[in-house]
Amino acid sequence: MDTKVYKIEHAKDGFAPADLEKIKECGEIIKRGGLVAFPTETVYGLGGDALNGSSSGKIYAAKGRPSDNPLIVHICDIASLEKITEDIPEYAYVLAEKFWPGPLTMILKASDAVPRKTTGGLDTVAVRMPDDDIALAFIKASGGYIAAPSANLSGKPSPTSAGYVLEDMDGRIDAVIDGGENVIGLESTIIDLAGDKIQVLRPGFITNEMLSDALGISVETDPALLDPSCSERPKAPGMRYRHYAPKGDVIPVKGDPDKVFGHISEGLAEAGRKGLKTGVICCAENAAKYDADVVRHAGSLDDAEAAAHIFYTALRDMDDEEVNVIFVENFTEEGFGEALWNRLLKSAGSKWEEA
Ligand code: AMP
Ligand code: MG
Repeated sequence: MDTKVYKIEHAKDGFAPADLEKIKECGEIIKRGGLVAFPTETVYGLGGDALNGSSSGKIYAAKGRPSDNPLIVHICDIASLEKITEDIPEYAYVLAEKFWPGPLTMILKASDAVPRKTTGGLDTVAVRMPDDDIALAFIKASGGYIAAPSANLSGKPSPTSAGYVLEDMDGRIDAVIDGGENVIGLESTIIDLAGDKIQVLRPGFITNEMLSDALGISVETDPALLDPSCSERPKAPGMRYRHYAPKGDVIPVKGDPDKVFGHISEGLAEAGRKGLKTGVICCAENAAKYDADVVRHAGSLDDAEAAAHIFYTALRDMDDEEVNVIFVENFTEEGFGEALWNRLLKSAGSKWEEA
């Protein structure tokens, strides 16, 4: 199949007529059971009709994703929650009012309107309203319920531009909406409101502190995520798989910043001696000091937002440059930094080195 690219400009004061026409066309593709990748504020999503089990089946196939790893349903208004969920707790409305549209996904009890193909066979459903004008208009034009995982091949880093979507999905999906680069660059926070305990199943831009403040209770992260050796399995099926991994070996390095610099410099030299192509992801301050083939940098070590913004792009660049070994400095693990560390660990196959 030919994958059509629709370039659409974000609109501060309403979309241009030509762009409205494109959004309508993309909505029609979804209604006919097709797949359209689209921008959100987090990463690019691979969208299909969430209420059509056959569309969800096509999403798993296009990504090569295990069909027990459920999809997030994207909606464009809070009222849409009622059709696809049941027994909505008051907490859900508190969070929706405070954080939607935004990078927060809620797990709620699924109604019969949601095919179990979309939920990976579970009786719960993940729901989110993205903070992106193109995404919201596209969801509306599609009938209001778009199932969308990240628009990468399963296991690869999530795509942060339409070009990266095409790298993985060209010929596998009907269309991609090119709305430029994503603002955040890391997937949404997932909070479980349907289980025995309210907890975060995947950290993201909306931190535990923000959630605790909004709900007036203490919200913590699924303990299985923080300790890879934990005997319990992560509650979000997707967090059990190897994920976000480039072709090269990712080596996060923890410790005192000076020691980290020394450790990575030695590692680079050794890899160079072995004839490996080397890469580093680091803070701006150190970028010029490393002797690596490819260096990608952002902000300072305490600026998780800047690092998260370039993280997947950097991993994909490393692949494009055929880098064999990628060292990553230790950015903060506080606040949004918890999400960055979580994705970094997954991309590294749950290992790191201490400096
Ligand atoms: P992605 O869309 O690629 O960011 O992946 C969506 C994430 O949400 C995966 O980690 C899924 O396992 C998780 N997820 C989706 N639905 C549920 C659910 N009902 N219960 C727990 N986790 C879910
Ligand atoms: Mg994903």
